[in-house]
Amino acid sequence: MGIELAMRPYRRRFAQPLHTAHGPWGWREGLLICLRDSQGRSGYGEVAPIPWFGSETMAEALAFCRAQGGDWRGEEIPDALPATQFGLESAQAKLTGQLAGQEPAIPADSVANANICGLLPAGETVVEIASQRLAQGHRTLKWKIGVHPIADEIHWLGQLVKALPPDARLRLDANGGLSLAQAEQWLAVCDRINANPQWATVEYLEQPLPPDQLAAMTALGERYQTAIALDESVATVAQLEDCWQRGWRGVFVVKPAIAGSPQRLQAFCQQHQPRLVFSSAFETAIGRRAALAIAARCSPSPAPALGFCTQGWFADDWDTLTPAELWDRL
Ligand SMILES: [Mg+2]
Repeated sequence: MGIELAMRPYRRRFAQPLHTAHGPWGWREGLLICLRDSQGRSGYGEVAPIPWFGSETMAEALAFCRAQGGDWRGEEIPDALPATQFGLESAQAKLTGQLAGQEPAIPADSVANANICGLLPAGETVVEIASQRLAQGHRTLKWKIGVHPIADEIHWLGQLVKALPPDARLRLDANGGLSLAQAEQWLAVCDRINANPQWATVEYLEQPLPPDQLAAMTALGERYQTAIALDESVATVAQLEDCWQRGWRGVFVVKPAIAGSPQRLQAFCQQHQPRLVFSSAFETAIGRRAALAIAARCSPSPAPALGFCTQGWFADDWDTLTPAELWDRL
């Protein structure tokens, strides 16, 4: 019996355009997938590409899905289409789980804020916003750095770690924008902070240098105590495997929605037990559920906070809809 493949493209507007290294990001485009068998059972999936972060374009994803002609025969999806691999494989897993009478274990939609990393804006409002995030229940916070002069940012960090409770954790995200000298300066400051048990902990410095400087980041990881995380360096499972083979043993930030095949990601995790931190790609609730299910299966123990603080970023009410309601809305 054949499996029907239906798809519905979407566009959602960010409430405020996101500032990215590639300019403002105003609209999130993606594709919802529905696989349906002859008995009417269905599994939803989501293709949510971010081409400037290393995935295929929306047009490439659409072309592959349209070429299936409305049927899904489990065809191999090329590695050049990682977001499509995620969307179709997770829809297939949902459908297969129902066929076997066992829904895959999906974490509740409302993962408690204590397990989710709260976001802090760049700049000096950080201390004030941090106290709001703590009041919302977050215990791990992420702050964008490399935006203002480094002396100012280090000064604000000093105020922040003293204002936070000692069990709070901070992630500093440089988006690959530091020079080597600046990265050394930050890591020395982080090591000093982490040596003081009365202050909050810097969990890691995220992507201090651009992706082409893996060897320099590996060397920094050996010289300083504070961990370093790769993000822009590892958009896909293939890049994770490559960095692992080249000796990276620090943290990896993974966005399951653009990483590629969930099965291949899970196999990599089981084989190597890497230090993974999972993060959203601004997908809808359909992709979010599938991504959180992967995070639940592949996170190290104890699991680091999830980078899924993305509710309320869009100028719509989609986060309140079930997958079937969202599908019908499009
Ligand atoms: Mg990052």
